[in-house]
Amino acid sequence: MLQRSSSILFISFFFAFFCVAQNSDSEKLVAAMLGHTQIQDDLHELCDKIGGRVTGTEANEKAIEWGVKKFKEAGVEVKKEAFQMPSLWDEKNCTAKIKGTANFSPRVVSRAFSVGTPPDGLEAELISVGYGTEEDFKKSGDKIKDKFILVTTDELVELGGLFKEYNDAHEIEGRALASQVKGVVYMSSRPKKLLFRHLASRGYNNTLPIVVMARDDASRCLRILDKGGKLNINLSIELTTGGSYTSYNVIGEIKGNEKPDEIVLIGAHLDSWGMGTGANDNGCNVSLVIDIARQMTLLGIKPKRTIRFALWNGEEQCICGSYAYTQQHEKELDKHIVIASIDIGSGKITGFFTGHRPDLDAETKKALEAVASLGPFENADVPIVGTDNYDFMMQGVPNLVGKQEGANYCSDYHCESDTYDKVNLQNLKINSAIAAVTMLHFANVDKVTLKRHNRNDVQKMIDETKLDVPMKAFEYWQGWLDGTRGRKP
Ligand SMILES: [Zn+2]
Repeated sequence: MLQRSSSILFISFFFAFFCVAQNSDSEKLVAAMLGHTQIQDDLHELCDKIGGRVTGTEANEKAIEWGVKKFKEAGVEVKKEAFQMPSLWDEKNCTAKIKGTANFSPRVVSRAFSVGTPPDGLEAELISVGYGTEEDFKKSGDKIKDKFILVTTDELVELGGLFKEYNDAHEIEGRALASQVKGVVYMSSRPKKLLFRHLASRGYNNTLPIVVMARDDASRCLRILDKGGKLNINLSIELTTGGSYTSYNVIGEIKGNEKPDEIVLIGAHLDSWGMGTGANDNGCNVSLVIDIARQMTLLGIKPKRTIRFALWNGEEQCICGSYAYTQQHEKELDKHIVIASIDIGSGKITGFFTGHRPDLDAETKKALEAVASLGPFENADVPIVGTDNYDFMMQGVPNLVGKQEGANYCSDYHCESDTYDKVNLQNLKINSAIAAVTMLHFANVDKVTLKRHNRNDVQKMIDETKLDVPMKAFEYWQGWLDGTRGRKP
């Protein structure tokens, strides 16, 4: 009897839940996103079949056409939006020979926008500069002029270490330029011979040959140098380079049926570095954005505001695609209610970075209530530099970045090993539901009180959060000062 009544209770509870679910677009959306979808097939096609997709390469062009096709198949309006990339860069080949006290061929790879070398390589003595601090460079004095310097690094284990890696590189390369070194050799921050590609910190303005050497090989060099051995390095870097060229963002859209001129946008970058297949960075979130568009269309959801789905290009090289969008759509930016960027792999979304905007933090908390069962969530009300929210943030547009668990992200970040098998598919599904419902909330909420910030507001945010430090590390500071990148006075 007891059992019977509890099952009746259960059935009626389930029925009530089911009725609610059927009445709410966001409940329907969660169920659809968590159910069987094409998200994994899309990830497989993009990463395994198209592969690494450096902007400007054939694979990247294939990825653009693939993105257009995916939105069309999903029944979403789509267009390619052209923009200019400042210069073409791709590595063809990179090798090194160590000569002297020991002779061997270490594994090396160039940093993006490294300069190339003559075909028979560039040779000079290899000198350790420790971690490359100011003191280390002072100690080295003149003896590193025209020499290759070897920079020791710590092993990368978490996201904080990654930001430090970027900041340190900017300082080190500044000192290296001032010391007129021949080139920079970084010890890889990943173990077991694993190599990765970062941008040279001056980006396409870089003037040095810069490589990453396998941690194991660099450690061997250091042990020899520490014991008084002498080493030369012959470095050969063969590149494909060229001037400015046209690339494309892929922009899908579901028109709003009450306020079509007001826009809610979610994006992920389509391009990747070419060593791995750009799976956690950022193929998984490209698939997530496409699947949200697909499920919303399948369910016949008619948002009040327009929802845009952006597959950005040129992110790894200069965050050029989303920058171009903010220029091309400048007149519409007042009407961008919120934009979101998802770019931290497939660790579970635990909230959003809300950009030092308590108003956005509060509204995002409300949005996340509809997916409370997929939480817990805790936003971090801090601004993020280093992905496609950047130019929106500098334009004063309310901007979110998915805050994700770092597990499984750093170890393969920008590495040869960033492949499909590293993506946490279960988290990816959950993340797609969280992101979908968050966007739908902003698209449907009755009254939006979030304002676009003016230049003074943005400046205040920069001052209060010391954002100038990462902006300088990414070489964005000058653009903000001279008004070429960010809200005009
Ligand atoms: Zn990325």
